[in-house]
Amino acid sequence: MVMKGGCLCGAIRYEIADDATPSAVCHCRNCQKQSGASFSINLLVSTADFTMSGTPRRFIDTSDRGTEVHREFCGQCGSPLVSRSPARLDRIAVKAGTLDDPSGLKPSIQVWCDSAQPWLSLPDLPSVARQPTPADTSLASPTGDR
Ligand SMILES: [Zn+2]
Ligand SMILES: [Zn+2]
Repeated sequence: MVMKGGCLCGAIRYEIADDATPSAVCHCRNCQKQSGASFSINLLVSTADFTMSGTPRRFIDTSDRGTEVHREFCGQCGSPLVSRSPARLDRIAVKAGTLDDPSGLKPSIQVWCDSAQPWLSLPDLPSVARQPTPADTSLASPTGDR
C-alpha cells in the first residue's frame, strides 16, 4: 500500500510505495533544532520508492562524519520533509510526522541517545548512543546519519 504525506500548507506532497518501510527515532541535536521538538522520526525509504511533488528548499547540514546531509523543507510553511545524503543516493529519510496517517508508525530503533532530552524515556526501543552502524542494526541510517 502507498503511504502519502506532505507539508503543513500542502505545497509539497509525497508518496512512498512501500508501507513496510522501517523507521527510527533520532535524538540528535540537529533534528531537535530542525523539528523544534525533542526528536525526529525518520522513515528509511529506498529512493526508488519515493516520489515528491512541489519544490522544497534545502539546507546543507553536516553529519558527525563530516559528510553533507541535505535537509529539505517547505519554503512556504517550513515543515521539514526529507534528508538526503549525497554519499547514499539510494536512500532517503522521510520525516514521519508529515505522513497523512501516522497511526501505523512503529519505530524500531532510537539513535543519538547521548543527546536525548533527559525527561524523555522510550524504553521499548533498542538504543544507540550516537550514529548507528550496520552492526548495530539492519536499519543502517539512510543519510549516513541524522
Ligand atoms: Zn508547506
Ligand atoms: Zn537526527
